[in-house]
Amino acid sequence: AAQFRFTFPESDAAYLLLDAFHKGSQVKVLPAARTITGYCRNHNGGVPDNFHNYFVAVFDTPFEEVATWTDGKVQAGQAEAQGEHVGAAVRFKTAKGQRVHAKVASSFISPEQAQLNLAREVGGDSFDLTCRKAKDAWNQQLGRCDVSGGTPDQYRNFYTALYRTMLFPRRFFEIDAGGKIVHYSPYNGKVLPGYLFTDNGFWDTFRAVFPFFTLMHRELDGQIMEGLANTFKESGWLPEWASPGHRDCMIGSNSAVIIADAYLKGIRGYDIATLYQAILKNSENAGPLRSVGRFGVEHYNKLGYIPCDVDVNENVARTLEYCYADFAIWRLATALGRPQEEIDRFRARARNYRNVFDAETRFMRGKKKDGNWATPFVPEKWGGDFTEGCAWHYTWSVFHDPQGLVELMGGPRAFTDKLDAVFTTPPKYDCSYYGFPIHEIVEMTVMDMGQYAHGNQPIQHMVYLYNYAGQPWKAQKWVREVMEKLYAPTPDGLCGDEDNGQTSAWYVFSAMGFYPVCPGAGEYVLGAPLFRKVALRLENGKTFEIEAPENSRENLYIQSASLDGKPYSKTYLRHDAIQAGGTLRFQMGPQPNPKWGAAPADAPYSMALDQRP
Ligand code: CA
Repeated sequence: AAQFRFTFPESDAAYLLLDAFHKGSQVKVLPAARTITGYCRNHNGGVPDNFHNYFVAVFDTPFEEVATWTDGKVQAGQAEAQGEHVGAAVRFKTAKGQRVHAKVASSFISPEQAQLNLAREVGGDSFDLTCRKAKDAWNQQLGRCDVSGGTPDQYRNFYTALYRTMLFPRRFFEIDAGGKIVHYSPYNGKVLPGYLFTDNGFWDTFRAVFPFFTLMHRELDGQIMEGLANTFKESGWLPEWASPGHRDCMIGSNSAVIIADAYLKGIRGYDIATLYQAILKNSENAGPLRSVGRFGVEHYNKLGYIPCDVDVNENVARTLEYCYADFAIWRLATALGRPQEEIDRFRARARNYRNVFDAETRFMRGKKKDGNWATPFVPEKWGGDFTEGCAWHYTWSVFHDPQGLVELMGGPRAFTDKLDAVFTTPPKYDCSYYGFPIHEIVEMTVMDMGQYAHGNQPIQHMVYLYNYAGQPWKAQKWVREVMEKLYAPTPDGLCGDEDNGQTSAWYVFSAMGFYPVCPGAGEYVLGAPLFRKVALRLENGKTFEIEAPENSRENLYIQSASLDGKPYSKTYLRHDAIQAGGTLRFQMGPQPNPKWGAAPADAPYSMALDQRP
């Protein structure tokens, strides 16, 4: 529900038009009740045949005159219309500056439920009271991450990013007359009990948005998990891109990552047995859409990679994302005490990234079904074997085993040289797969940081990988540079698509001083905090503080650190340590301290090194 306020001049012809949109709509004007009801059916797929968005709008000012229109034709005096594209017009008689208020609500369930939603969410509140309640609610949520010791622009950046991180997924459930949680299923068209959330592309949000929820919004994350179980019960599949039903968009098995990360971080209160069955089905089968289940699964399971010559597009990207999901499933299967054979199967598959790594070029690369590399190979070619990126970006998509990637590259030196080369290689590109430079390509060239394309998701964790090869100070340098150069509190302040909060969640984490490189590993990788102090007020009542008293534009390098007063040289933070509350304190300075955090034992989790989770 919401409230609208319209301010008119002195007029006998103060009109308000309500457009119920095309693709099927209805309006009913009830002058005695100063109310307009109806529905919109406008959508672009991903809904059952009975999809309706019912609405009600209640005004505080009487209507002097009523009209409707159907498909562009006005029916004066007629209070109802139904058709392909209908709308309503009401006329008010207003004094100078008179305010007309409308209380509005919608429902995907029924017109009656829309009335209930209006009563529950707005009720008798004045416009100003609704404003105040909304402001208080946001302030309370935003205030849970309390930053200080920065500039006004840094605060604007941070809280704007935090706000955006919390906008998606949308709540698709409603509360019925008996106070029960119910939802209209965008999968089977029924009204069913329990939670449901929608509008989310997991390809984007598994990276940092959902890890942020596991840290700061654990109860909500549990509700989202129940919603995922409901999606499986109602559609037979887990969503990868819900909007509101399954949509054929992007790639990967990232629902498994989101579920595993939530469960492994101790979030409970949902049906994990059903979710695990859903993960198993998703991981072993192609789905009804290419984005659901695993498109190309028969090749992946047989060869350990998806070849580039079997009519499965974006095959290298799919291989890498399935492989990382298999890591997450391995961890989850272990925690659930699944049969050893099953655990081992996923563990073995989590090493499949090696099958698409070409040691000669030191890039992830398209491979044919006969085992030969695809030729010619152009590392700057976007699309084709990759998804909205090129080999420069996807070569780093080994979230769970950067140390294994270090070995494949030929050691830490070769690995960090390659990371450096991302920034020093000019932002040239081959866009022949798309036929034109897609906006992500344009954004990379505009940003002018070499091949580093922060405006799109595949590379967003890359700068943190310096921690895995003994050069954490370079992560500190680049994190700060990206925060300062690519985020600004201006209308064009973001460097690319926001993508359901992911690009903002990167900033939120990075400004706090750490980032979830590998959801499922139970760790966050350190960068360099932006503020002198951050206090995280956790749902469990504890507070975790990150302090960097000398922090400034120049003092961007970590000199040393302590956790709860004890020296700390790890370049990662355990999730459990944050949840327990405490203080991580950094001493910052203008020059790198190449010794701090550089020992192999200080590096974050990597599958090749140990079993830390
Ligand atoms: Ca994107």
